[in-house]
Amino acid sequence: MTYRITRFGGGQFITRSPLWHYDENYALIDTSIMLDSKPNPKHDGTMRAMLLDAPFMPLHLAHIPIPFPCDDEILIRVTACGVCRTDLHIVDGELPPHKTPLIMGHEIVGEVVHVGAFAHRFSVGDRVGIPWLGGTCRHCGFCDAHRENLCDRAVFTGYDRDGGYAEYAVADARYCFLLPDRYDDAHAAPLLCAGLIGYRAYVMAGEAQKLGLYGFGAAAHIIAQVARQQGKEVYAFTRPGDTRSQEFARSLGAAWSGDSNAAAPVALDAAIIFAPLGALVPQALAATRKGATVVCAGIHMSDIPRFPSSLLWGERTLRSVANLTRADGEAFFALIKDIDIQTTPIPFRLEQANEALSALRAGRFDGAAVLMPN
Ligand SMILES: [Zn+2]
Ligand SMILES: [Zn+2]
Repeated sequence: MTYRITRFGGGQFITRSPLWHYDENYALIDTSIMLDSKPNPKHDGTMRAMLLDAPFMPLHLAHIPIPFPCDDEILIRVTACGVCRTDLHIVDGELPPHKTPLIMGHEIVGEVVHVGAFAHRFSVGDRVGIPWLGGTCRHCGFCDAHRENLCDRAVFTGYDRDGGYAEYAVADARYCFLLPDRYDDAHAAPLLCAGLIGYRAYVMAGEAQKLGLYGFGAAAHIIAQVARQQGKEVYAFTRPGDTRSQEFARSLGAAWSGDSNAAAPVALDAAIIFAPLGALVPQALAATRKGATVVCAGIHMSDIPRFPSSLLWGERTLRSVANLTRADGEAFFALIKDIDIQTTPIPFRLEQANEALSALRAGRFDGAAVLMPN
């Protein structure tokens, strides 16, 4: 049995066809191709996936062909996929989707079940992580300067290419990571974006003994632990009145936690803003000492209000962090392989992706929502 995906006016229709066919979104599946381990129990070459057809629409469950890995790609059986705030920005239309239907999800953990002809980095049976950065041009000025996170032709997992809200996913093996053994699949998933991009922001914050974290979600709860392990003091700022998250921050070693509109108890050496609120920028600047850095770590932020230049005075630096490089990933996983980072996954079934997104939007949990498709 073979399948063909045909595109009509922005929608896709899956038809069964005896013809081989490949398009940019899905490879044709010939079910005579046996997966090397743990094949789809249905044996019909399809998988369950949660599809986004358009912003503002709930995801819906579909049975679609299992994608097939091309030359540099691997196919993995997804065991865990984190739900990131970026996914919410896509669903909520703040980041227009680059393709529809789209399978979101860019904190993917799974087992390699098939490797492409040139994907020599991994073997069948390896446990790998697939991050947000899914590919780059590899030869532009940014790529040559080890700043591939800024490549104009970068493609992103769960945005430009299908991600992990599904039973299977393909990825370019050159952008995947082996994961430290000490983290099981559910605990490893949030490391792949919240951890990794959080870590890039943490490095960009520079040497800072007193570090402020604005928004204590998935990224901050990981980075707070990294900072504590390195002997730094963490000051956690949450939504005003969110005493549950403030308590959570203190349980992870924060020296202080409080409302984001409260004055900091000390002058901060640096601050990272994980919450997507531009209004936090002047607040964070006001909380820092001269020479401090304030990092905007999210992919999307509401407008930054006008603020007096005196807040920036004193050689304070305000900067953003975009995406990640593979070097960030290698450094981060090397750092945490010997220390114990609690990632606090909140598990959801694949079919509960909409519930997971709603819970994240409403701030109903501490930690990181993780879909468990298999
Ligand atoms: Zn490039
Ligand atoms: Zn993310």
